[in-house]
Amino acid sequence: MKQILFDFTDAELEKFITDMGQPRFRAKQIRDWINRGAPDFASMKNLPEKLRAELDDKAQTLPVRITKKLESGDGQTTKFLLELMDGEQIECVLMRTSYGNSVCVSSQAGCAMGCKFCASTLLGLKRNLTVNEIFAQILIAQWTLRNSTNEKSIRPNGDANNNDVSHIVIMGTGEPLQNVENVIGFMERANVDMGIGWRRITLSTCGIVPGIRRLIEWGRPINLAISLHAPTDELRSQIMPINNKYKLSEVLAAADEFTNLHNRQLMIEYILLGKHNENGETVIYNATPEYAEKLSELLRGKNCMVNLIPWNAVDERDFASPSGNAVHRFQDVLIKNGIHTRIRRERGTDIGSACGQLRLKHKKEEK
Ligand code: SAH
Repeated sequence: MKQILFDFTDAELEKFITDMGQPRFRAKQIRDWINRGAPDFASMKNLPEKLRAELDDKAQTLPVRITKKLESGDGQTTKFLLELMDGEQIECVLMRTSYGNSVCVSSQAGCAMGCKFCASTLLGLKRNLTVNEIFAQILIAQWTLRNSTNEKSIRPNGDANNNDVSHIVIMGTGEPLQNVENVIGFMERANVDMGIGWRRITLSTCGIVPGIRRLIEWGRPINLAISLHAPTDELRSQIMPINNKYKLSEVLAAADEFTNLHNRQLMIEYILLGKHNENGETVIYNATPEYAEKLSELLRGKNCMVNLIPWNAVDERDFASPSGNAVHRFQDVLIKNGIHTRIRRERGTDIGSACGQLRLKHKKEEK
């Protein structure tokens, strides 16, 4: 297997390079390129061509390799399918927005949570990602921002010269709180090495209570998002098996404790799901006005923002996206009850940017 230079300490990299008969300063040059996210040796313009070829035989820059890179039609979303050294695939999405450049990273290869509407969990969990495997995703995004040749890839009303990753959302494949120590290690590193402020990091969880407690103990003021998707235990347990272990009341109590500690607004994610009835018509599932009333009740008095997410269709899953009217009726009830809410703009649906779809497609093509 090829050596991953990103994983080497400075001393190890120097030894590796001098063992190849090269002067020591080459190690420093290579380190600079890797820190900037160079995905391959061909990009390292100040190295002799022969050395680049030799390195390519022996080594790889990062612990991930880009297998697919898709740009959305508007040029603002780039989706990567990345291969790990053991052949596992993960996804990562770069979103250029008016407030900055945001990267959505994966924390696991696959997922064990079994949520009934999600593509990421269909093939189960393969393994946790290491700190470096998570960090390499933002390096690749950073490299892409700085070296993009797509003329459309300028942030809407943004500063065209600001080509840095500014925000991180841990909402890709996997459940971050099942891999909490590596995810914490990743966030520390993003903060120290890339200067990304705690308040610009958002971690999304389906509600692993001991994991939320670990974040409380860790004590950094990141944003916490809870994937709620249902306002009653009965409904939630039908679509999210984790609810059989940690009930809504426990999850919200732990989340409150976290957000009160840091005086932060809690983010609630609520996917709006429909179902097909026997006549093939779409009927509302978790997005009826009655459920909106129950959700309002559950969240009354909390400092929170409810993100409403119309479900992104996954072929293998037996749900449907509700109509725009149903979405607005649901939101109107929340607004009437004084709950802060917004409808999450869909990004990159033209490139299968939603939730594990790219990885799944790749796996199917392999077979
Ligand atoms: N495991 C974590 C983070 C990854 S999922 C969590 O559960 O929060 C990120 C978000 O996407 C979650 O809110 C998840 O429920 C949602 N999601 C999964 N599949 C989706 C789909 N097909 N359409 C819309 N949102 C989806």
